[in-house]
Amino acid sequence: MRKVDIAVMYHYIREQNGWGAIHPLRPEDFARQIDVILQTHEIVSVDELRMPSTKPKAIITFDDGTKDQYTYAFDILRKKGVRAYFAVMSGPRITGKIPLVHLVHAVLSFTSDEELRDILIASYDVQSLSIESSIYDYETNKLRKFNKYVLNFILKETEARAILESIFNAIFPNAAKFVKEHYISDSELIEMHRAGMTIGVHGHNHIPYYNDAQHYFATEILPCKEYLERELGIIAKWYTPPFGGGEFFHCMERDLTPILLEHGFAGGFSTISGPIDDTSRFWFPRIDCNRLSPELQSLT
Ligand SMILES: [Zn+2]
Repeated sequence: MRKVDIAVMYHYIREQNGWGAIHPLRPEDFARQIDVILQTHEIVSVDELRMPSTKPKAIITFDDGTKDQYTYAFDILRKKGVRAYFAVMSGPRITGKIPLVHLVHAVLSFTSDEELRDILIASYDVQSLSIESSIYDYETNKLRKFNKYVLNFILKETEARAILESIFNAIFPNAAKFVKEHYISDSELIEMHRAGMTIGVHGHNHIPYYNDAQHYFATEILPCKEYLERELGIIAKWYTPPFGGGEFFHCMERDLTPILLEHGFAGGFSTISGPIDDTSRFWFPRIDCNRLSPELQSLT
């Protein structure tokens, strides 16, 4: 194997348990992947990414800070003596508001795609929409892809939220209970941090990047960084943008990087796929955990 560093991207680590709209990795498959990575790579803390090593390095990254990452992933990592990087959100814990992306996961899991499509088309002029091809390429169900695209990228946040909340509230009448059960709590984050896990910024409300870097930083990134420092005593130095910056990744790279550097960030993780060939850069590509085996084989 060539000496190539990698970062692997994880989201939900759990059983599906009725949540048909999410793509979780089962805990035993996660444990197996860690063992496979350890055969060729040294799994290091993200803070050690730029340090010299004899073996190629691997960074384990998590997005969204959902509870399953504490319950299953952290437990497995701790038992294996492996460290990882978790990018979390401040919004749900401060305001109790559930980010749109998770309203989408919850509603899509418990409402049919047809029903939701009909509600969207009846409410907004989206019937003849063409979808950016690179977005949601893992989503094979066309109706679901359409619904997710409209909700996350086409409608204004307030528009999508109004539709989703009305459906969500009927399914989950107690939003505070949902937040408590769906996200890693403050005390659990502190426990993870003390056990050597790195906690970074994923955002305040999981809003996709838009073309106003200063405003985006002030409303989406800084509140999360400040929350982690103020409430948990954690200085966050790493950033993972929601949706990898989405369709505005290149503008984000150009306009947001200097602001992140100015505020003490050491680097960021995108959703661009591939190995890390230059650790001196600010942005690092990641390999999606669902594509890990072919990617690892291509490095040999
Ligand atoms: Zn996310």
